[in-house]
Amino acid sequence: MDRRRFLSFSAGAISMGYCQAAARSEAAEGAVKAVPSPSKVTIDAARSVVEEAPRQTPVADSVDVLVVGGGPTGVGAALAAAGEGAKTLVVERHGMLGGMWTAGLLNPLFEPLRGWWVERLVERLQQSGGWRDHPKFPVFDTEVLKYTLEQMFGESGVDFWYHVQATDPLVIDGRVCGILIEGKSGREAVLAGTVIDCTGDGDIAARAGVPFQFGRPVDGLAQPMTMMFEVEGVESLGPETQNILKILTDAIEANHLPIRLPYGKRPRGAPYLIPPPAKGIGAVQATHVYRYNATDTRDLTRATVEARAQVHEIFLKALRKVPGIEKMRLAQTAPSLGIRESRHMEGRYLLNAEDVMAGRRFDDAVVSCAFGCDIHEIYPDDQLAHRIPAKPFEIPYRCLVPKSVRGLLFAGRCISGSHEAHASYRVTGTCMGLGQAAGLAAAMATTARTTPDEIDGRELRAALEKRGVKFL
Ligand SMILES: Cc1cc2nc3c(=O)[nH]c(=O)nc-3n(C[C@H](O)[C@H](O)[C@H](O)COP(=O)(O)OP(=O)(O)OC[C@H]3O[C@@H](n4cnc5c(N)ncnc54)[C@H](O)[C@@H]3O)c2cc1C
Repeated sequence: MDRRRFLSFSAGAISMGYCQAAARSEAAEGAVKAVPSPSKVTIDAARSVVEEAPRQTPVADSVDVLVVGGGPTGVGAALAAAGEGAKTLVVERHGMLGGMWTAGLLNPLFEPLRGWWVERLVERLQQSGGWRDHPKFPVFDTEVLKYTLEQMFGESGVDFWYHVQATDPLVIDGRVCGILIEGKSGREAVLAGTVIDCTGDGDIAARAGVPFQFGRPVDGLAQPMTMMFEVEGVESLGPETQNILKILTDAIEANHLPIRLPYGKRPRGAPYLIPPPAKGIGAVQATHVYRYNATDTRDLTRATVEARAQVHEIFLKALRKVPGIEKMRLAQTAPSLGIRESRHMEGRYLLNAEDVMAGRRFDDAVVSCAFGCDIHEIYPDDQLAHRIPAKPFEIPYRCLVPKSVRGLLFAGRCISGSHEAHASYRVTGTCMGLGQAAGLAAAMATTARTTPDEIDGRELRAALEKRGVKFL
């Protein structure tokens, strides 16, 4: 938000008392505001489909770059685009930026050394005491991060709207020209030169008709989901991230608790107790719910309820029997269920397991990644979450560019990559790196008065390098 907008926003907030008083007096006088009459609909005889009549939707804004989703990827995309002077808007369904960082309560921030905006963010967190460095597990403070992101958006001139769900892309002659959103203001359109899909699930790209692979090719199943939760009063466990599988199983056995962990043997994966910078708090990565579809409303509801039940009925019961932390209490379950995997959109290149294992480099690379492929078990009793060793590798711009439509990029965990490769690049430092590359590409397209699919990936790489992005 620029200074002028911020001032008018503050003035609006100050005069709100007046507005409320005016509204009350209008109501008292029986004044009713005219509302548009609902558009005509018909319901078919089988009551299975509703047909909506054509309707007029107001255009709420027109921007150069529209970023859908304000998670790690969307944050990178927006800061990069606005930093280059593009008029940039982010629409986000939560009342906060950060996605899994904040609404998902995850920690640590893996792969924080990608350069440019990723490192600027880390510097800001360091300056505000919201960061604790660690060679393997660098952690941040969730509340400091929420505030820092809003400040950085304000300083960079990124506009952002909370509590809006992006519903559909506006596609004309194979070009995405904007999206429809739904929020408290009703249904609105936003027009854009480039739309960047940073929803994690590729919602906009899928609805624009971009083909995708869901989960793994063999059966379409995705990695399990996890609801993170935060506990207070865990001083005795110290500042290191801990694999707590053994202390949990010991506590269950020693106390003859009639509970089973939701998975079989997990020697290398969760459960983890992660200590953010603030003392006495632990972020717990432990619940697992299996074979749900993150793009299905009913599945998402069932998965959320099941994961929250695991927190209360399994993990809290076991943790309360662990010597030294018996008195810990649940601070909160994450507002958003953690989704590891859903759609892999089809781009001009599909990054695969061989690329990751061979440490492949690309002329049109936009980010590098060194994180091992961390595939959590698809079925609870799979023997272990398997890790494919990754040599540091690069991701080409082509993985962000759809084959079939123009005016659209996708970035973050939904880019064009295989089930195995995704299990490496899905970590947040890499996703923010992918976002900043998409944002710069969109800004370059704005300057060149073209669409991002026309941007030369090698020129993009050079432009990223010039701005401090680190390649292999
Ligand atoms: C349980 C769990 C633990 C993890 N642990 C770690 C870890 O320790 N370290 C690490 O680096 N990575 C970790 N990851 C991976 C990482 O969290 C994700 O892969 C990463 O957050 C992906 O970033 P993203 O921006 O693409 O998606 P997200 O973080 O999911 O952000 C997407 C954003 O888009 C918004 N959105 C989605 N759809 C719409 C829509 N239609 N309209 C409007 N807004 C929308 C969402 O509200 C959200 O803010 C973990 C993942 C999970 C699930």
